[in-house]
Amino acid sequence: MRILKFGGTSVGSADAFAQVAKIVATAHQQDGQVVVVTSAMSGVTDILINAAKAAAAGDRRPYREARDELMARHQMVAGQLVSDGVERAALGRLFEARLAAFERLCRSVEVLGELTARGLDVISGTGERLAAPLLAAVLRAHGVAAEWVDASELIVTTNVFGNADPIIEPTTEHARRRLSPLLQGGVVPVVTGFVGATADGISTTLGRGGSDYSAAILGAALNADEVQIWTDVNGIMTADPRIVPAARTIPEISYIEAAELAFYGAKVLHPKTILPSVERGIALRVLNTFDPDHAGTLIVKEPKPSKDVAKAISVIKGLTMVTVEGRGMLGVPGIAARTFTAVARANANVLMISQSSSEQSISFVIREGERDAVVGQLQAEMAQELASRHIDQVRPLDGIVIVAIVGAAMKGTPGIAARIFGALGDAEINVIAIAQGSSECNISLVLARGDADEAVRKIHDAFRLNEANGQN
Ligand code: ASP
Ligand code: MG
Repeated sequence: MRILKFGGTSVGSADAFAQVAKIVATAHQQDGQVVVVTSAMSGVTDILINAAKAAAAGDRRPYREARDELMARHQMVAGQLVSDGVERAALGRLFEARLAAFERLCRSVEVLGELTARGLDVISGTGERLAAPLLAAVLRAHGVAAEWVDASELIVTTNVFGNADPIIEPTTEHARRRLSPLLQGGVVPVVTGFVGATADGISTTLGRGGSDYSAAILGAALNADEVQIWTDVNGIMTADPRIVPAARTIPEISYIEAAELAFYGAKVLHPKTILPSVERGIALRVLNTFDPDHAGTLIVKEPKPSKDVAKAISVIKGLTMVTVEGRGMLGVPGIAARTFTAVARANANVLMISQSSSEQSISFVIREGERDAVVGQLQAEMAQELASRHIDQVRPLDGIVIVAIVGAAMKGTPGIAARIFGALGDAEINVIAIAQGSSECNISLVLARGDADEAVRKIHDAFRLNEANGQN
């Protein structure tokens, strides 16, 4: 049994839908039991969220336009790929009802002048609830027995709206009870990605890009042999090919390496996708809908040995480094603990920490959008120390990036840092800070945004990542 998850671009147009139908038909022939998970059509979730936010600000135009645009986009695919009149009419009614509900919700948001996280989850899940019935109909038109299923019937989540996590036991039970009969009857369930519901049946979402996570959750619940993430690139690459033209696909990578890469900005995989798969030892495969014969990347516990010490380089942009510094810090106990308590109070996520050994400063990296909240909380927390000059300042530095070099074999290989710094030194690129992850399979550098691309190219060269070092 395998799970096939298709991302937004894989269902972005009628041509893409047709391509997906071929892939699913082939998989269904090879392995009688296939579950499909789909994202919304590309760009749809953004449109929904922006329309809802505009409604809260009193602007009704975006949601009205969104309704018409989404109707047209989905009808267009149905018109081209679903020839059966009865099917098409049923789809039309479903789109109509969903989009009318979306419009009603936005109207209430507009009247209230307030958008709650709970309300937003109902609205933002609309895209998947349009795409899944459409894809199921397209599959039937291609001769594959298929039925769409709303994941709110399967994935039971916490009530953390906008970023919910599954509750394993009821999810396993619901998924098996609902999907097993379909699978046994040779029917392909087409499940909405991204969404779930609390035990009380209130709609939730798993976070942006969360359809990958949906696939992994269902894979674990159904004990799948493999979870396939179908996207628009040839698997996980050694670097972003737009930055490094010589970048190549990594044939095999470990769960830990893939998790580090996903965390550090490699967009192919949602970071939470790894965990449910690790726990059950389910292989994850990243494949390209538009080049289905390419082997892509296989993510497993123990990849075949490779000579590559560093496997890939990724970049996260849009970051701020905050430094708390002062000569008097040395004598003040608990500064680090209080610093991170203040950061937590601002609800910010820390991507990297570095402390100078002289203990006169602590620096950490957050997303730019969280800067004001974090600096505000820190100034409040350290008000006394700032007044007494034990701490000189809380200083944000915008416009930085983290470049992460990832590879499990870096552990225990001497000279890695020297190689990285040598490459950057030759290019006269200044490293603002450095940290090594505790897993030791990642070295992260803080650089100025303008240096990022050149740094990635130089490091890629230094580790000769363009050459297939015996991996293939
Ligand atoms: N449609 C959702 C999003 O854009 C989920 C996904 O695509 O994975 O975030
Ligand atoms: Mg995605």
